[in-house]
Amino acid sequence: MSLRDCSPSAASFRGAAPSFPAPLVAFEGFKMTHVVTANCQACRFTDCVTVCPVACFHGDDERLYIDPDVCVDCSACIPACPVGAIKEEFDLSDDEEQWIRINAARAPDLPIIRAKQSPLPTAEARRSELGLN
Ligand code: SF4
Ligand code: SF4
Repeated sequence: MSLRDCSPSAASFRGAAPSFPAPLVAFEGFKMTHVVTANCQACRFTDCVTVCPVACFHGDDERLYIDPDVCVDCSACIPACPVGAIKEEFDLSDDEEQWIRINAARAPDLPIIRAKQSPLPTAEARRSELGLN
């Protein structure tokens, strides 16, 4: 049997619409990204910004946020965070899904944080509270 014998003929495709699985990320207004979750609150260690290749972290006085329109989903920031605050969207629990919206809404209005800064005075206590010392 030749390879040609195993290949479907052009006629067998005629009239049959090809079917492909629906793309996982093609929903309107939806983009897979990484988000900063609750563990960053009162920590703000900023180790994450030193590894981000596209400077998509923004910060207020208490925590950081990722701009989903800039994040390239490289995951470099996940192991850099000492309190496990950064997650890929598909790793979020139901309780954490709110952080997708919060990161997207807050990040664009806040300054970009490009360089490591001193952690908040509450950072070490927060890390202990999270059991991550
Ligand atoms: S390294 Fe983690 S705790 Fe520190 S600012 Fe980044 S996300 Fe927040
Ligand atoms: S996944 Fe990559 S691009 Fe996105 S915030 Fe983390 S380090 Fe930056």
